Amino acid sequence: MILDTSKYIGKCDCGRVHELRTKLVVCEYGALDNFDKYMDDCGLSGFRTVIYDTNTYNLPTMVHVKADQEIVLEAQGLHSEKGMIEDMMTRLERKPDVIVVVGAGTLMDFGRYSAYKLGIPFVAIPTLVSSDGFTANICSIIIDGQKKSIPMIAPDAVICDLNIVKGAPHFLTVSGVQDILSKYVSIADWKIAHLVSGEYFCQKVCDMAQEALDTMAKCAQDMRDGKPDDFEAMAYAQMLSGLTMQILNHSRAASGAEHLIAHLVEMKPKGFENAHGMHGECVGVGTIICAEEYHRLAQKETIEVKPFRPLDEAWVRDIFGDLADGIFKECENDVLAGFDEHKIQEHWQEIRDIIAAIPSAEELTELFKAIGAKHSLSELGIDESMKHDALDISAAIRNRLTFNRMRRLIVE
Ligand SMILES: [Zn+2]
Ligand SMILES: [Zn+2]
Repeated sequence: MILDTSKYIGKCDCGRVHELRTKLVVCEYGALDNFDKYMDDCGLSGFRTVIYDTNTYNLPTMVHVKADQEIVLEAQGLHSEKGMIEDMMTRLERKPDVIVVVGAGTLMDFGRYSAYKLGIPFVAIPTLVSSDGFTANICSIIIDGQKKSIPMIAPDAVICDLNIVKGAPHFLTVSGVQDILSKYVSIADWKIAHLVSGEYFCQKVCDMAQEALDTMAKCAQDMRDGKPDDFEAMAYAQMLSGLTMQILNHSRAASGAEHLIAHLVEMKPKGFENAHGMHGECVGVGTIICAEEYHRLAQKETIEVKPFRPLDEAWVRDIFGDLADGIFKECENDVLAGFDEHKIQEHWQEIRDIIAAIPSAEELTELFKAIGAKHSLSELGIDESMKHDALDISAAIRNRLTFNRMRRLIVE
């Protein structure tokens, strides 16, 4: 499948003009055999530096594309840290005209960050499709000990050779499935936020996220039925989801309340010290617990609301410890204070209809079990009794209007 991204750009009914830096996305078996042609098609010529790590360089299925310089980083201990990326940049023989990165999340950040610093384009050759970050323009790197998501350039092209991707271990593939199925919740969150607060919403971008979700839901169903994995469709779903982030310059369509469970696992606040898990696994479990809570509330035919109150300071300090000041800063202009809480009541029936499109927690659990995916808090090192704390604490982490966060305005 060759995805011409020009169909997503231009003037849109939402009032914005959508742009994409990524011109070409290829997800095909043997895609790397035509790599030079794709580079020519995108006008990417000149000195080419190709970056691998020792794992991706030595993959048995790897096709080593032509390079003017190759850099092979030691995979052991490699992480997205500013100092490490800058070290790598000192190994550049000269300023390249284009950087090509062969790998997954961590290595992509090396390419994304260095290309940005040098003001040159970069091209991604994914070796896994375990997340939707390839086509995004967000970089998650550690700066001065703190993990930061910072806007960064997107790749000019993503050339995904399915011969390589299909060799990935099953648990990584499944984690990628969960990262996309999380959109059951994130799309609902976006629609509900738009309804009650008038937050910007684009139907076209929402449709892209929905298409990624529907495509991946079919892949998961096939997996459950014992059919061969459809790597082309899975890669397509990941790429499409990443493009929504690039268009919006924001992860709104791809990340809602369920993704904050992954942030919770990374931050390890009080009670979650032993939490662990891959990104997709965490958001998969997050999707289940959000689905359960959203459906529980949506059973109510009517609701009462209460006025906004900021987070309780003592509670935040107790839970987040050293990280508490960061939470206060994040929540300074709380999104919950930005609209009249009665809007939730006013739109309650529409909210219930939106939630009705989310599968039940039982259905999701059964599906995840059947495809060998993680499906419970205990598998993430979190006690099952912490379910409600997980919802409350994760909602406080980021100032984003999710239905989970909106619960603070609903009387129970
Ligand atoms: Zn739009
Ligand atoms: Zn994700």
